[in-house]
Amino acid sequence: MAQSSPQQVGPSSSGATLAEMDKLLTDEEVERLIDASLAARLNAYCPYSKFQVGAALLTKDGSTITGCNVENISYGLTVCAERTAVCRAVAEGQRKFRAIAITAEMGNRFVGPCGACRQTLVEFGLDWEVYLATPDKRYMKTTVAKLIPDSFSPEWVTLGERQEGTRYHGCVYIDQLIGLLATCGPRRLHEDTHINAQTLSITITCPASARKQLS
Ligand SMILES: [Zn+2]
Repeated sequence: MAQSSPQQVGPSSSGATLAEMDKLLTDEEVERLIDASLAARLNAYCPYSKFQVGAALLTKDGSTITGCNVENISYGLTVCAERTAVCRAVAEGQRKFRAIAITAEMGNRFVGPCGACRQTLVEFGLDWEVYLATPDKRYMKTTVAKLIPDSFSPEWVTLGERQEGTRYHGCVYIDQLIGLLATCGPRRLHEDTHINAQTLSITITCPASARKQLS
């Protein structure tokens, strides 16, 4: 039943922008990540639902960190595979991710993360890849941003928290942020943004054209 290599079934990457192409995983990376999620799935503790889920995170430094669902007799305490993996990663000092593979079996369907897990993934950025895979290694590729559109992103809050002594909400800077997002993309905004509270200006490492646009 199992195939020797993963087979993409969902949307293809054709038509991706250059920026998106830069982030794509190689076929080998995809296969390793799905294999890791498959292996983690076998460790699922799910005596109540019998629904095994595995997850595997690929960090930006190339590490793979896995998780599985862990259920509890008090059902509400159950933790999903995705959140198990994220918590493990953070505990190991990892907060930057390139991708996550999530494996479950529900007929021919690709099983996406629940709402709580989508919000957990957004905490660590919108701009990274999600591979929804089946036990026979078919998969559909998507992104965190596509899984949770118009999300409540920590970018809006952390921008304000960087001020000394005063807490500002990022929405104050909505006009500037729209310009930044259009020019630099959310990844640049998330990783290297500084706000000067006195002048209400934003400095960011990005092309000169973007800085000019914001001045
Ligand atoms: Zn979940």
